[in-house]
Amino acid sequence: MSILVDSHVHLHEYGDGWRSYCDGRYLMLAVSDDADSSVVTVRLGRECAHVVPAVGVHPWNAARVDVSETLRTVERLVVEHGIRFLGEVGLDRAFHPETFDVQLRLFEGFLRIASDYGLGLSVHAAGAWREAFEMLRRYRIPAAVFHWYTGPPDLLEEIVAEGYFIGINPALLVQKKHEAVLERSPLDSVLTESDGPYSYRGLTLGPEMLRRLLERISEIKSVDVDEVSKRVAENFGRLLSSVGLRSGVSPR
Ligand SMILES: [Zn+2]
Repeated sequence: MSILVDSHVHLHEYGDGWRSYCDGRYLMLAVSDDADSSVVTVRLGRECAHVVPAVGVHPWNAARVDVSETLRTVERLVVEHGIRFLGEVGLDRAFHPETFDVQLRLFEGFLRIASDYGLGLSVHAAGAWREAFEMLRRYRIPAAVFHWYTGPPDLLEEIVAEGYFIGINPALLVQKKHEAVLERSPLDSVLTESDGPYSYRGLTLGPEMLRRLLERISEIKSVDVDEVSKRVAENFGRLLSSVGLRSGVSPR
């Protein structure tokens, strides 16, 4: 099996435990929740060759931050450390509709930064999939992963046509809606993710679930698990190279 791809993990939330994931089994796009965790994620990226750091503020935290100051901090991290991804950034009408206006201001700011520096995005868009997608297009964002996609099926096709990726989460094991997403997603647009250390319906999400996730994808797609693993690793390589990073994946 190829190296396991985790295209969306909150590695900074594991404390010192994050090191156990940096032993070459996993290649991770580590996302941040706010300015402080962005600083931590940048450090993890420096310390581990298998971590690609993403900086940003989760839409759930939008109302708690000073938007202009946060955008300045994030842009400074991008410039000073050569960061190539923003995440977890986006919009959420499903769980926090009450802060949507400030989420929008913050996300617009992130899109401006991503557009200026040609960055990729790890996008959270619960309940606001189309709005987020239209904004990415408007700002000509070169690369994006729609993390844990559960949005409308017709939009899925547009996301794929744009060359963006669909994040498939271990929730696949228990969430019918997510299974339907995978069925409609071409394998060449799929990236695996854990969203660890989040818990969902009895699942403790984390990189150790990736193998099981690949097996389930293999069953649903009727493609050999080693082939699924290889294709996902190649997809991740394409994602990285689209923002000027070396793929870090050696094809077998
Ligand atoms: Zn997340």
